[in-house]
Amino acid sequence: MSVIPVFRYHPDPVGTGSAVLSDEVCTVCTRPAGFAYSGGTIFGKQAEVLCLRCIADGTAATALAHPDGPAQLTDVGRRVPADVPVAVLEEVSQRTPGFLGWQQEHWMYHCADAAAFLGPVGWDEVADLPDALQSLRADLGALGVDHEEADRQTRSMHRDGDVTGYLFRCLHCGVRLAYSDAS
Ligand SMILES: [Zn+2]
Ligand SMILES: [Zn+2]
Repeated sequence: MSVIPVFRYHPDPVGTGSAVLSDEVCTVCTRPAGFAYSGGTIFGKQAEVLCLRCIADGTAATALAHPDGPAQLTDVGRRVPADVPVAVLEEVSQRTPGFLGWQQEHWMYHCADAAAFLGPVGWDEVADLPDALQSLRADLGALGVDHEEADRQTRSMHRDGDVTGYLFRCLHCGVRLAYSDAS
């Protein structure tokens, strides 16, 4: 039986598609993986099969380290608020399953903390979430996308399409955050 470790910032890695049931052996710890990481390229050495336990306890970050430091499973992002502690950024990048986006993935933040990643989403999943919609438009706006085009991109989002949204929720105030990217 496989127990999924608790990830504060990625509560359901199987549901989001970042981990899959596996009967293979983890390359890092050589134990049966149980659930293997499927969240994309690791910034460091690659492991053929990586179990969630090795991500949770930091073994993977150490074992797969690149010359500049511990391996990272995700990019902390371009606009990390200054009030987010370094320890949080280390937990997100080194001990939390990442996810697979079209472009370089990045995390989102609120209330001086990293938010929890809820999964890839399409328009149907966010159409009734005004906070997520506001966040999507703000993110595109910050990239210089005008309002009309931002609206068009947001409405064309599909969980499995060429334009995908990535939904997060603040662990403190519950506000939903999201950004989108395209193939
Ligand atoms: Zn392992
Ligand atoms: Zn918040």
